[in-house]
Amino acid sequence: MKNISLLKRLVHRRQLLLSGLALAILSPRATLAHEEQVDLKVSSGSNKPKAISHDAPPRNKTRLVMIDPGHGGIDPGALGEEGSEEKHIVLDIANNVRQQLSEHPHIEVRLTRDSDHFIPLYQRVEIAHQHGADLFMSIHADGYTSPDAHGASVFALSNRGASSAMARYMSNKENSADDVGGAAVKDKDNYLQQVLFDLVQTDTIKNSLILGEHVVKQIRPVHHLHSQNTEQAAFAVLKSPSIPSVLVETSFITNPEEERLLRTPEFRTKIASAIVSGIVNYFDEYDRNARRV
Ligand SMILES: [Zn+2]
Repeated sequence: MKNISLLKRLVHRRQLLLSGLALAILSPRATLAHEEQVDLKVSSGSNKPKAISHDAPPRNKTRLVMIDPGHGGIDPGALGEEGSEEKHIVLDIANNVRQQLSEHPHIEVRLTRDSDHFIPLYQRVEIAHQHGADLFMSIHADGYTSPDAHGASVFALSNRGASSAMARYMSNKENSADDVGGAAVKDKDNYLQQVLFDLVQTDTIKNSLILGEHVVKQIRPVHHLHSQNTEQAAFAVLKSPSIPSVLVETSFITNPEEERLLRTPEFRTKIASAIVSGIVNYFDEYDRNARRV
């Protein structure tokens, strides 16, 4: 028992150390973004977007959750047979998550976008960092080549190969979103990749997998799961070195039955509730472990 508690204390110290390391890595990037006057605005619950503050966020018990509705603007995301556009569906689900999570006393929620506009993938990660987010959750409802593909999946970052052919297909497809925005955004992503330290990221991926499992567990009773565990793939939007990040594919919009579901407010609320419970349970587990050290 004593050894276990020592190990936990070490892990906790390691996390603190790594958080500091991640901040050190990221601060030059924050300065760069400021110099370029990148217009980074996010929704903070009111209709007025908040300007980015470069000050360190206050560290108290309140957790900041950054919800990222996929696609937007000139990038509609995947399309359903009935004409549904992924970008609108995921924005609605994200708003639903925000509404439910904001009732939690110790959680603050922001969205990377709360209107129909395009944000490059690298900038979504950057928004999360500049706001000092404790957790990043990207929400999607993608398509596949076969209309038979169905069910929800949860993804975390992989530095190595994708965990399945589907994971590889999904990450390639999502990462091509920046092609819409032109070549300039790709260079930014390369820059971000350069500053990733494996050491920090390994810890973050570990936490992302724990978060993913909490979300999978909550989706299981309410919707079919395409894969039973958190999958791993090289999604650009999950490449934060220090913020646990997962991407939830809520359903396949190319499956006629799931497109019908995605169009209903009932299903959107149901899947949003599962995401919310997953997030709350993840923080609860984190706090329980912290108390033991
Ligand atoms: Zn998508």
